[in-house]
Amino acid sequence: MSAKLIDGKAFSNQLVDKIARQVSLLQSVHHFTPGLAVILVGEDPASQVYVRNKAERTKKSGMRSIEHRLPEQTSQEELLALIDKMNRDEAIDGILVQLPLPAQIDDKAVIQAIAPEKDVDGFHVVNAGLLATGQPGIVPCTPYGCLLLLQDHFGDLSGLHAVIVGRSNIVGKPMAQLLLNAHATVTIAHSRTKELEKTCQQADILVAAVGRPEMITGDWIKKGAMVIDVGINRVPAPERGEGKFRLTGDVAFDSASRQAAAITPVPGGVGPMTIACLLRNTLVAACRRRDIVIDEF
Ligand code: NDP
Repeated sequence: MSAKLIDGKAFSNQLVDKIARQVSLLQSVHHFTPGLAVILVGEDPASQVYVRNKAERTKKSGMRSIEHRLPEQTSQEELLALIDKMNRDEAIDGILVQLPLPAQIDDKAVIQAIAPEKDVDGFHVVNAGLLATGQPGIVPCTPYGCLLLLQDHFGDLSGLHAVIVGRSNIVGKPMAQLLLNAHATVTIAHSRTKELEKTCQQADILVAAVGRPEMITGDWIKKGAMVIDVGINRVPAPERGEGKFRLTGDVAFDSASRQAAAITPVPGGVGPMTIACLLRNTLVAACRRRDIVIDEF
């Protein structure tokens, strides 16, 4: 392997330490503790793990974690009523509704019900619009985490060609906008893109956010590119025992590592950055709501 392994876990730990120092300063100087409310509806096992991890990291940073676990049969009206209550709660700075939601609930309606200044996932149309027009809002956590890793590696991204495979509202599109705002030249690829392999081969920065295990192989990657693998796929791992799974990304790690200059692993790459950026967004939201100026890293 020749690529530098990007350690998202170590980077995110540094970020959480930095956030914890800021939180401690807010407590001593401004006498408040930022609060993050996470709502989980139903019993989805993966969502339960995500919510538990988020709550643990929130507490580790010194912030308050407020968890609401609602039953699977919760109605949209009940969920919207809870969000309304939290929008008006002065002690809550960030609200996150864990997706996916049960079928009876319209996730778009739920996201739009969150006050934009408390929308720490950055999914509200107001925040999406601010990002699209290059204005300060709240930026989705996963792409922001990717941007921090890229800036740490390259410094200035001006003029680099970034190819993003995937155009979802939560990863692909905001990633493209962040990279455009950072002066990269951006190509967005998706399931209808022709000659995807050739498109990827032109990338100085290749971001894979597809959800297809190991779809992107080493021969798709330009020598010396930086590869950010956002994908989290559960694939059967019979070598670990019957019915066992392992996590893998959208990039075939071994062959990609022989071409790339730097690459994020799965797990341990983008995933930990997502939670760290959620805490960063909560801190930023808490300070902006109170007109407190901090260094918004
Ligand atoms: P979506 O399913 O919403 O979007 C997938 C995108 O990939 C779509 O734009 C789709 O194109 C495109 N795509 C699908 N198949 C192909 C193909 N064969 N060739 C080219 N493009 C294709 O997924 P998300 O954006 O929500 O997530 C992507 C991955 O990232 C998943 O594995 C998810 O688990 C992971 N993820 C990881 C996070 C983390 O913290 N690390 C956070 C969020 C997501 P089209 O639009 O044309 O259908």
